[in-house]
Amino acid sequence: MKGEDGAQVERISTRCGREGGGLGAPDLAVNTRPRRTPPKVPQALPVQRNARSQGRPDASHLANTHMSSQTPSQGNRSGLPKVAVNRHGVEAVRRGHPWIFKDAVNVRPAPPREASVVQLVSEGDEPVGCGVFDPDSPIAVRVWVVGADARLDANAFTERLTRALAMRRELFGDGATTAYRLLNGEGDRTPGFVLDRYDDVAVLRVDGEAARALSAVLTRDLERLLRDAGITTLIERTSQRTGKSETKSVDVRFGPPRASVRVSEHGVPFVVDLIRGQKTGAFLDQRENRRRVGELVARRRQAGLGVRVLNLFSYTGGFSQRAALAGGTVTSVDVATNAHGTAQESFKLAGVDLTAHAFVTADAFAWLAEQKKKGNRWDVVISDPPSFAPSERAKPNAISAYRGLHRACADVLAPAGMFVAASCSSHVSAEDFLTTLDDSALGRSDLRLLDLFGPPADHPTLPSFPEGRYLKLAVLA
Ligand code: SAH
Repeated sequence: MKGEDGAQVERISTRCGREGGGLGAPDLAVNTRPRRTPPKVPQALPVQRNARSQGRPDASHLANTHMSSQTPSQGNRSGLPKVAVNRHGVEAVRRGHPWIFKDAVNVRPAPPREASVVQLVSEGDEPVGCGVFDPDSPIAVRVWVVGADARLDANAFTERLTRALAMRRELFGDGATTAYRLLNGEGDRTPGFVLDRYDDVAVLRVDGEAARALSAVLTRDLERLLRDAGITTLIERTSQRTGKSETKSVDVRFGPPRASVRVSEHGVPFVVDLIRGQKTGAFLDQRENRRRVGELVARRRQAGLGVRVLNLFSYTGGFSQRAALAGGTVTSVDVATNAHGTAQESFKLAGVDLTAHAFVTADAFAWLAEQKKKGNRWDVVISDPPSFAPSERAKPNAISAYRGLHRACADVLAPAGMFVAASCSSHVSAEDFLTTLDDSALGRSDLRLLDLFGPPADHPTLPSFPEGRYLKLAVLA
């Protein structure tokens, strides 16, 4: 893929820098046997058992246990290994930023060599909080609890999950939407733990080696809380990177194995492929935007404007289905081989006539160039590509890739058309993103910004954590 200035930009078939592969990724190992043993816990963690812990390491010992190779004298009153953080790191922790990057961690005292729950201290040795330390990640610590007396154990996870579930009960009480995010990692103050609900199935993703190593300990009450909330199957999806290769696995944590599930989004039914689907199965962050696009297409139709709709990076056709239900004639384009099959199942489920719509399996960039040459045009163009910026360093290339993509979209947009452009690159801010939609980027000067949307309320973020607000969707007409 080439950016506008010719710079090579890695083709990324992942979204938000977290997902590898697409539907049907060949390295997917499916393990449908319920996993009874907890995932690996650092060897140095003395696994203490009691009746309450039902054979799992009892989290109440975490805060009193050395989980690294440090000697007790290097620890502190809480018994945890210490990680000393520079002044900027301490300020960030106090503001509520959930990450401490490697370069904010002091080399003395030496941080632990293994994944551990740690006490964070200032350079003056004042305790500032507790977090999960990962020696191998650029995000050295994911901060869980702030304060001098901070402790981190399963109770912290349980309390936060309980609050998160209560908030979703409020949001989705009317039952019209049965697919939503139950736990949004950092945004729900459970760094690294994401949980999506698809009707009576939940899918867990644990991000980062350290969080994974401690998952069984922290999530002691997960099954009970989820069963109380009506979840009958919990699937855990893991993707682990070793160098350039990525291994994915799907494990059933409890309940009968499920391959797919039917859900509803504001009353519109769709199918979720729980095994081969990307991310946790669907991109729930675009739910409200999909509804909005449906409304915009319906409005255009009522106003007598054209409704030939092009949905680029369509995945399982969420935007397409909304546009089709609103009376649009939709062309969906995605490179993932199995995505259109799921989209078509959802179309049928919603009573949409498939023959009126086109599904193209292609690289969107090459395909757009062909359409321009052929003179094909659409009245509404939707673009929702995967993340272009996996790191801050990749940002200039990402900006240029967005400009290139947006120009290609503008080239096939009919006069008086509507352009809906999304970005899920967390390193590209909303303002940066808008620069990729200016007149010089688009090569035309007839479009105005009507609206700019973000993620829905079941994807909460922290004011101090702009990285969490990765999703932008601009509507231009
Ligand atoms: N809009 C979708 C989510 C899109 S996720 C929804 O509402 O559900 C991004 C999609 O881009 C993925 O389905 C991925 O397979 C696809 N993709 C990645 N690179 C692509 C490329 N070069 N050409 C076409 N599709 C691509």
